[in-house]
Formats: sequence, structure tokens, C-alpha cells
Amino acid sequence: MAVTLSPVSADKVSAPEYLVLKNPVTGEVIGQTPIYSAEAVQQVAARARAAFPAWAARPVKERAALVRGWADLLWAEQKSVIQHIRRETGKTDLGAWEEVVVIDNTVAYYTHNAERFLKPQTRRATIPIRHRARLYYKPYGVAGFITPWNYPLLNAFQDLIPALIAGNTVLLKPSELTPLVAIYIVQLMHQSGIPEDVIQIVTGDGHTGAALVDVVDYIAFTGSTAVGRRIAVRAAERLIPCSLELGGKDPFIVLNDANLELAAAEALVGAVTENAGQVCISTERVYVESGIYDAFIDKVKTLANQITIGSGDGFDVNVGSLTSERELHRVEAQVKDAVEKGAKLIWGGQRRPDLGPLFIEPIILTDVTHDMSVMRDETFGPILPIMRVKDADEAIRLANDSEYGLSAAIMTGDLRRGEQLATRLESGDVHVNITHWIFGTPSLPMGGVKNSGVGRRNGPEGILRFVRPQSILVDNQLLQRPSLSRIDALTMRGALLLRAIRRAVPFLRV
Ligand code: NAD
Repeated sequence: MAVTLSPVSADKVSAPEYLVLKNPVTGEVIGQTPIYSAEAVQQVAARARAAFPAWAARPVKERAALVRGWADLLWAEQKSVIQHIRRETGKTDLGAWEEVVVIDNTVAYYTHNAERFLKPQTRRATIPIRHRARLYYKPYGVAGFITPWNYPLLNAFQDLIPALIAGNTVLLKPSELTPLVAIYIVQLMHQSGIPEDVIQIVTGDGHTGAALVDVVDYIAFTGSTAVGRRIAVRAAERLIPCSLELGGKDPFIVLNDANLELAAAEALVGAVTENAGQVCISTERVYVESGIYDAFIDKVKTLANQITIGSGDGFDVNVGSLTSERELHRVEAQVKDAVEKGAKLIWGGQRRPDLGPLFIEPIILTDVTHDMSVMRDETFGPILPIMRVKDADEAIRLANDSEYGLSAAIMTGDLRRGEQLATRLESGDVHVNITHWIFGTPSLPMGGVKNSGVGRRNGPEGILRFVRPQSILVDNQLLQRPSLSRIDALTMRGALLLRAIRRAVPFLRV
């Protein structure tokens, strides 16, 4: 089924060039969308700006109800949503469905909690009774989102849910590889009652993305570290806030007391079955304590033999196609580099043209070291490199030996020790005895340290980033008298008294 550009944006681009979209499994052309020029982006932004005051003036509850209505429509249309995602990415049924579930979960979290998170607050006044210290949260205006292709529903929409509920209007620039999913989902938003100019799409490439950064009041970027850095520079020049969800090289530590069957399964899920390894928070480096190293490898090989790979329908297919040829080449280059430097390829690695041009069997490597690209550079494909370590301390040291710090995992039977070790990892989040669940846990902030990014999605932090705090200090004029100096004699005596009280009875919190 070929899809042409949606009416959402067809009329908004003068003299467009087009992106031609292909199904990565069949090579079939499935649609085209215009590449928005900088002028076209400005026009769309002007509409978003005009729509902002009315949208921001609605109560939080009303905006949240509209977003809830959209999520319910998305849920009702999930078969079609899954089909759209699969045809543009080549991922499995289960992988596409996961995106729908996580979005629904995120909407539930923010529709239940947003009003509370955004409520005006009373803060402690320096001079109690006389002063009232109030804090209001106000939306920025037009929020821009630039997103990648690996989760075209989840990564494009998870962050903009709180932005909309907080009262911003939104411009979305989806990846040039997966704009059709985004166009379809935005149509569902309009269909469910969210006004057209409140959420709009601009399709295109990096130039379109760069033009978007120039017209918005907040930019939320999800993508590679290299592009994120350029966006941060431009945002700094414009003095607009930004958040950057970037790449990762996530470590996975298996300690002697781990449940080996579970550890092997989680390592495979983390590295190869979840979206064929095309995940920002995929498991990319496995460190196994000496005592269980050989047994762990045996378990991994046994489980790997049960992996199903294919393009068929149904929730029993574990690994689908890669989405882009660039990633296939990157995977093969990393494996070649590792093998040339002494790594052993103990499982998989063959291309599967019988299934489609971008299918590759999952790859398990042992005897890897930190001078290999596969242990240092981001992998966006199904590779599981495993390294033997002396003990937990060596595992932590190696895990922290990376320019990235997005997510991590520790497998251990000692939960308390697992949690303690987790705090020693330089990572935005750490899982104990599981991988990946952070992105399905909307109450927990998610984001990176080091080159993995700045800012957090999800949790209260994930909505408060889309509002600017406005402080209002009210003097009730009870004891106020005109004076030519800031502190008059009465205020001074009051300040000394308050200081004495605060030092003597701090729990009063005056
Ligand atoms: P990418 O950086 O190549 O592209 C991301 C988006 O940026 C696309 O929409 C692209 O058109 C746009 N873009 C490119 N150049 C631009 C420019 N100069 N100015 C503005 N926008 C520009 O990344 P990708 O290949 O689409 O996605 C893969 C990367 O995304 C990986 O590094 C992965 O780790 C990362 N990622 C991170 C997260 C996270 O939450 N941390 C989630 C998913 C993906």
C-alpha cells in the first residue's frame, strides 16, 4: 500500500523536494514526503505560535483529556499502527506493539499526575506572614522535537506528550527514514480533537531539523551524539533550553552469584532480540566474573539457538530486519575489526538475504578487549560481545571506561549489593537483574551522563523541563511602610529575631 503525503502538511511546502520511503524488508516504495525548506518551517512555526495562547489558556485537565482521547484512539487502531511501524522499520510485530504499550503507559502516567506536577506552589517566604512566595509553571511556547528512526512512535511521541499537556504547541521533525508513521499518528491526534496547529509535522532531513532549531522556544532532540552536539551549540547561540537524548554503549555485568539462565536471556534480549539491537539503551558490552564465565557462555549459546529471525507476522518472531543499510555495514565493520584484533566469533554473523536485504543473524563475540571498536563505539545492531573479568571491581572500572553513560545492568543474586554497585556506575540509569525496563517506567527519569546527553525524559522531571518557573513575591502590606533603604529598623529587628528562631528550632521551617 503506497502512502502519499498526508493533508496535514501537503499544502505547507512551496516547491518541495521529496523523501522517498521504502520498506526495508521488501525494498518496495511505500510513500513520499516533502523536505521542508527553512521558509516552510518558519510558516509552520508561525501557525504554532499563533495557536499557543489559546492552548496554554486551557486547564491542564482539559489538555490531558485530549491527549488521553488520542491514546485511546491509538489503542483502538493498534493493528494499523503496528502495520505502519513495521512497514517503515522492518521490526517484528512484538517490537511494534511494545511502542504502542509504552506510549499508552506514558499517557496514563501524565494524565494522572500532570495537574499535581504543574500546580502553583507556595514556597517558604523569608519574612513569613508578611510575604507570600508563590511559584507558577508556564509553558515555553513552541516546543520542537527532532527524533530518530529506531522507535518511530515511541521516540517521536513519548517526549511530546508532557510538552502538550504542559501547554506548549509542538512541531515534530521525525527521522527521514520513518516520517510516515509520524504523519499517521499526528493525523490520529487531530482526529481525536487536538487542534491542527497545536501539533504539526515538518518532514525532511538534517537541514529541516536545523531550521526547526532556529524557530522554536525549546528543542528536544533524540539521536546521535554528533548531531546532538551541533544542536546544543545552536541552542546555546539562541539561548533556548534544550534536552539531548543521545547514544550509548551500555554495559551489562554478570556476577558469580547471578541466576545464569536469567542472565543469559537478559543479555540476549538486551543486545540482540530487542529491535535487532537498534536501541539506544541496548546491551553493548558484557562483563562476566571469572567463576561463571564458561557456564554463562554455554547458556548464551544454548538460548541463542532458540532465537527465531524473520519477517513474518506473529508475536513469536524474536528478531526482525535492520532498518538501514548504514547500520548493517557498521555492524559488519565492528565484527571485522574485533576478529582482526583477536576476538572469537562464536555464534551467528551471516547475512540472511533469503529473508530480506537487511537481515543478519545475531552475533556473539568472546575474547574482546577495550581496544576494539565493538567495545568503544556505539553498536546499532545485534552484537553481543562478552569479556571475562576478575571481579566486580574490575567490571565496574571497565563499565565506566566509556565516553557514554546512558543505561547499564547488573545481574546478581544479592539485591542489596546490586543496588550498591549500581550507584558506582557512571550511567543515567542502572537495572538490577533486568534490562531496558527504564523506558517502560514513566515515573523514573531517563537520560544520559557524559556523551549520552543532557536532561531527562519521564517522571516529574520530564514535564517540568517544558515549563519555565515564574516566581511571584507578594508583600501583603501588613507592616510595610515607605522607606528609602531596603531594610528599615523594624525589618532588621524582625530578621534578627527570625535568625534566632531558625537556628534554635530549625524544624519549624519558618
Ligand atoms: P541522527 O542523529 O542521525 O538523526 C536524528 C534526527 O536528527 C533525524 O531526525 C535527523 O534528520 C536529524 N538531524 C540530522 N542532522 C541534523 C542537524 N544538523 N540539525 C538538526 N537535526 C538534524 O540519529 P539516527 O540515526 O536517526 O538515530 C540513531 C541514534 O539515536 C543513535 O545514536 C541512538 O543511540 C540515538 N538514540 C538515542 C535515544 C535516547 O533516548 N538516548 C533513543 C533513540 C535513539
